[in-house]
Amino acid sequence: MKVPKTIQIGAHTFTVWLSRNVADYDGLNGDAHFIHQKIRVWSKLPPTRRLECLIHEVLHVGCKVFAGRESVTETLLDGLGEAFAQVLTHLGLELDWSDIPEEE
Ligand SMILES: [Zn+2]
Repeated sequence: MKVPKTIQIGAHTFTVWLSRNVADYDGLNGDAHFIHQKIRVWSKLPPTRRLECLIHEVLHVGCKVFAGRESVTETLLDGLGEAFAQVLTHLGLELDWSDIPEEE
């Protein structure tokens, strides 16, 4: 399945990017900018980690849009991202990132 260039979350359309520079040494592998409506995933992650990271970032936005919560813990979203990634991978989902641009 091709990763969509945009993801609709509530009334908002977020663009999806791969990034070489989004990661840090504290375990950050991606981020979601609500104002810029942009989700970035670290380009160096292996496929299943990219999937988990994308889900994690979508959940960040979803918690804000649908539940009005910005204070959801990273631990919770890490666990949910991992759970969804496990199920989707087990169902045979493989993401094709070839349409996703990489920012500098
Ligand atoms: Zn997070």
